[in-house]
Amino acid sequence: MPCQSSDELKLLVKEAKVCTNYGKVADYIPELGKANPNDLSIAINYPDGRCISAGDIDKKFTLQSISKVISLALVLMERGSPYVFERVGMEPTGDPFNSIAKLETMAPAKPLNPMINAGALVVTHMIKGDTVEERFHRLLTFIRELIGDDTIGYCERVARSEFETANLNRALCYFLKQHKIIQEDVETLLDLYTKQCAVEMNCLDLARIGMIFAMDGVDPLTGKRIMPDDVARICKTFMVTCGMYNASGEFAIKIGIPAKSGVSGGIMGAVPGKFGIGIFGPALDEKGNSIAGIRLLELLSKNYRLSMF
Ligand code: GLN
Repeated sequence: MPCQSSDELKLLVKEAKVCTNYGKVADYIPELGKANPNDLSIAINYPDGRCISAGDIDKKFTLQSISKVISLALVLMERGSPYVFERVGMEPTGDPFNSIAKLETMAPAKPLNPMINAGALVVTHMIKGDTVEERFHRLLTFIRELIGDDTIGYCERVARSEFETANLNRALCYFLKQHKIIQEDVETLLDLYTKQCAVEMNCLDLARIGMIFAMDGVDPLTGKRIMPDDVARICKTFMVTCGMYNASGEFAIKIGIPAKSGVSGGIMGAVPGKFGIGIFGPALDEKGNSIAGIRLLELLSKNYRLSMF
């Protein structure tokens, strides 16, 4: 029996919140360093439209790496999976999300998966359109459709802050360009990528996206298919194998829910066939995952037997 009430969630948030004292907010993107490490919020969105939540649920945060699942879904729809997987692989790396190590030793230099930065940059490169504005608009339109909210936008300050400091991502792009995996101008791609990562929402919105993935791409309230079930399936599989960076194995064993995290402290969960989860807790563990967010998911998974394995 899944968690049924906001009161139950409030108790779990209270318990998990202690962990926020042991994490650190990401500051390699200077704007993210301004987050309050003690924030913690969670929402669960059920297919029948019910939503339960607890914590500072109105706080907005940027998607960061969570956006990688959404851009992947868009590109799979726009280009088809053979085209996409010719350019990015399907294997977990066991390395940190921003590592360049495996790129250098792989031949060809194709990134191992779309959830590490190198792979996500290749995915963003594949978003169709002639200008950054047009391509970003396509992505934003898709995100707005997933949530059912036309007001979703991005945080310019966070995008600019990352664009100005993203030298490691620049290095990854130049490496990929040298190996002809990407062709476009590096600054243009980084402009689009940093805007993608800066798309902003609250945990209720994120839970709603998780619910659409959980329901194989259909909005159960309207019956409208937002993405093909095969695309939702591929995305959820990546969430299991690579969604929590190099903590994905431990996460699969301890929690067993397809999930994707971001360095802003967001985590999106998609419990197959059941519901979506949105979490925001900006204090991170050493691998870059929300420390209290993981604890919260661990409590939820154990208490309500949510592991899919
Ligand atoms: N925008 C961030 C980056 O590229 C996303 C990383 C993350 O959330 N792990 O560094």
